[in-house]
Amino acid sequence: MEKFKKIAVLTSGGDAPGMNAAIRAVVRAGIANKLKVMGVLRGYKGLISNDFIKLESTDVSKIIQTGGTILGTARSPEFREPEGRVKAYENLKKNQIDGLIVIGGDGSFAGASLLSREHNFPVIGIPGTIDNDLFGTDYTIGYDTALNNVVDAVDKIRDTATSHNRVFFIEVMGREAGFIALRSGIACGAEAILIPEISGQTDKLKEFLATRGKTRKSSIILVAEGKKESSTFDIAKIVEKEFPEMDVRVSILGHIQRGGSPTAYDRVTASRLGVAAVDALLNDQRSIMVGIADNDITHVPLNKTVKLHKKVNEHLLEIIDLLI
Ligand code: ADP
Repeated sequence: MEKFKKIAVLTSGGDAPGMNAAIRAVVRAGIANKLKVMGVLRGYKGLISNDFIKLESTDVSKIIQTGGTILGTARSPEFREPEGRVKAYENLKKNQIDGLIVIGGDGSFAGASLLSREHNFPVIGIPGTIDNDLFGTDYTIGYDTALNNVVDAVDKIRDTATSHNRVFFIEVMGREAGFIALRSGIACGAEAILIPEISGQTDKLKEFLATRGKTRKSSIILVAEGKKESSTFDIAKIVEKEFPEMDVRVSILGHIQRGGSPTAYDRVTASRLGVAAVDALLNDQRSIMVGIADNDITHVPLNKTVKLHKKVNEHLLEIIDLLI
């Protein structure tokens, strides 16, 4: 008798463009391997309230190009407690599920790791978060689309900034990590990039504005929202006070960063990872994340993705100063 007959897939935590492409890949790869595939609605919330739906190949038609997640996503405080995870496990058994695929970020993986270990149940994680802050994978699904959204928006802001000779502080997402700010900042030709991983950047910014910044028609300063020293508005106020002759503005890009049609890169990454997750289950992997490293598929223990922190790309950090 085959060990795996029926699997389930869910999306959890913050939504990310490309999650649908990953769901589609899981469903189609599962069916190609003669598995039945169920979708769980609203992440761990639906796992606890037993909201399972059958997914056929046609149910995932024409979703590769859509943002968000057709399964819905939610945050579930109940799943953080062992009792909540017992309910989730019981529903998995009730629905005769042999393995679960969780598409989400580090919070979702913390929960997935506990569920898998406490109940000895196979769970595979697919990294889906715009923040790209997961250890063990070079890219997470949604990151490339978010970068392109930021670049589009900042290019537009640059037009008005240059016309009015302004200094613009633009806040981008990244709760505890500066990956979006760093890469999109380089792509936009930002004059400065402030990220939580580096301290003392406000002084360096002031030095730039006092010297080379004075000759610029506009300055774009990208700030990661998780910047710990002070808020984007606080930094802008400091600059306004020190350089009263400068016309300072703040723009918070917010939720537009995570919306829209996923880029080709995110669709391909999601498709590869969806197939890799089904393969991993069939090859008896449990409690791992499938990721991409050096353009190859990797398997990383879920508890490692939660405990370890991904470092920002040193080369990108080195080149910022040269390019300003
Ligand atoms: P993301 O996966 O995008 O990082 P969250 O951090 O909001 O999103 O986590 C999503 C869900 O994962 C939470 O609502 C909760 O149900 C579960 N979760 C997060 N952290 C833990 C944890 N330490 N233990 C158990 N479950 C967790």
